[in-house]
Amino acid sequence: MPGKVILVTGGTGLVGKAIEQVSKTESLPDEKWVFVSSADADLTSEESTMALFEKHHPTHVIHLAAMVGGLFRNLKYNLDFFRNNMKINDNVLYCCYKTGVEKCVSCLSTCIFPDKTTYPIDETMIHNGPPHDSNFGYSYAKRMIDVLNKGYNTQHGCKFTSVIPTNVFGPHDNFNLQDGHVIPGLINKVYCSKKENTPFVIWGTGSPRRQFIYSLDLARLFLWVLREYDESSPIILSVGEDDEVSIKDAAEMVVEAFEFKGEVVYDTSKSDGQFKKTANNGKLRERLPDFEFTSIKQAIKETVQWFIDNYETARK
Ligand code: NAP
Ligand code: GDP
Repeated sequence: MPGKVILVTGGTGLVGKAIEQVSKTESLPDEKWVFVSSADADLTSEESTMALFEKHHPTHVIHLAAMVGGLFRNLKYNLDFFRNNMKINDNVLYCCYKTGVEKCVSCLSTCIFPDKTTYPIDETMIHNGPPHDSNFGYSYAKRMIDVLNKGYNTQHGCKFTSVIPTNVFGPHDNFNLQDGHVIPGLINKVYCSKKENTPFVIWGTGSPRRQFIYSLDLARLFLWVLREYDESSPIILSVGEDDEVSIKDAAEMVVEAFEFKGEVVYDTSKSDGQFKKTANNGKLRERLPDFEFTSIKQAIKETVQWFIDNYETARK
């Protein structure tokens, strides 16, 4: 008889699918996992959100559902990112409180850090100044999760916390060129360039730097946070500062994984976005010194293989 019912909002997305895969082997006997999508409930509606909670009676929630996108989707829809995510987060956390959920782990992002800052950035700095203008809507809405967590914690004693992952990629990502993040975008582009014998076009200068995390590594860390991390303040889930790579480095790894031999060009008329958001993973390392991240090369290889194997059904 499961003692814990763990509801995962956004359970059909990149991170949700990775948690589903990891939970299949690492689930404990007293845990029942429920993965839901927008087809189960539109979380921008308080009524639908409450109906979902009343249906499943979760004791624990991993809250992933959000309007998500790469730089170019954010540039176009800042207002929608703000409004949709504010509604979703307010509804989910309110329903967690009203229905007595024991613990809720929500998801922030290193994209929401201040633009003008010293590096590396740590968990204490997320509210220290305006975010990069390219994704201000997403960023301010995500920052409010931390405000809500603090409010529910201080006013009602709720165990609500959040994690701050860097740029995530892996199987089940959104490979759409306009909407998705950089690695799935590069993978889709090289796939097409190889098939059609056309140049592979990387947007921007290729010099911005990012710490990438493989979705399956992030999923294993989520399970640890759910079970072991008991602070209400957020924790950065990231590879180390030395593992930060340029967009050019990442593009070269995609080229290598496909064994692509064609022409590679940079379209510098496209935005570079924020130059870097280097995050310090010291808080994580203090608690989990032995956690092993998959190398970015290996993770890109596996994701490329997944995309080739699932081309017909992949989001693109
Ligand atoms: P994703 O692949 O785009 O998945 C988004 C999920 O949210 C889907 O399951 C989607 O359901 C659900 N959703 C969206 N709008 C909804 C609504 N109104 N009601 C109910 N469900 C809704 O996103 P992801 O990359 O897995 O991101 C998961 C979390 O990680 C998000 O909170 C995101 O901000 C955070 N994060 C992502 C990255 C990254 O690089 N991807 C980096 C840092 C943090 P449908 O499938 O039905 O649409
Ligand atoms: P960010 O990490 O939040 O800025 O978002 P992205 O994952 O979208 O990464 C954006 C960075 O990758 C910028 O420097 C873009 O110029 C660069 N980039 C290069 N090619 C692409 C592409 O095909 N898609 C996306 N989304 N970004 C690209």
